Amino acid sequence: MPVNKEKYFSILEELKQYSAVLVAVSKTKPVGDILALYELGQRDFGENYVNELVEKQQQLPADIRWHFIGHLQRNKVKFIVPFVHLIHGIDSYKLLVEVNNQAEKRNRVIDVLLQVHIAKEETKFGFDDQELEQLFKTDLSALNNIKVTGLMGMASFSDDQELIKTEFHSLENCLRSHAKFQTPNTKLQILSTGMSGDYKIALQEGSNMVRIGSLLFGAR
Ligand SMILES: *Cc1c(COP(=O)(O)O)cnc(C)c1O
Repeated sequence: MPVNKEKYFSILEELKQYSAVLVAVSKTKPVGDILALYELGQRDFGENYVNELVEKQQQLPADIRWHFIGHLQRNKVKFIVPFVHLIHGIDSYKLLVEVNNQAEKRNRVIDVLLQVHIAKEETKFGFDDQELEQLFKTDLSALNNIKVTGLMGMASFSDDQELIKTEFHSLENCLRSHAKFQTPNTKLQILSTGMSGDYKIALQEGSNMVRIGSLLFGAR
């Protein structure tokens, strides 16, 4: 299925009112589809799998900003560090340290978002409230090659709009309450919430970065 141009432009129009960034989630989709959206002006793309991301990055224009939005294993960090623009799914201190170490080797400073567990489901990755508190009490000042620029979360997979709203709202509160903890490498500004099914709710609840796949590229 070709990319949905009309949908793309209407989503961009919607996001303008919120000054939100669109990350086009291209996982499992061929490079031709990515290029089609690139030619319409899209530059931010999101991928979930390291191998797939590395392969696509090599074939596509160098000015694409690649977002890694999946669950990142520590032993794979080194493969994306040379080029990744933003890592959304930091879910442990150890992973943060590994990104920092690999970034240092490459002489880069990499922006990352902390993934927070907001859904009721047990299976989703991310810090819970307590773990996040703990992390902000930890001295991150030695991690000179990362910048913690915001939070990312996924709502429950549910038809219950109120539940989704509550979950996104809790993450917005979380960002606000931690925004005061500013250090040279921590400044929480980005709230990455909202996918094809729930991005409108996310925007109402403070999202300024949405990750949308199937609405643009068709069902996977
Ligand atoms: C796949 C995925 C998306 C996009 O999902 P759609 O429902 O296709 O918009 C967004 N965020 C993450 C973390 C994903 O894995």
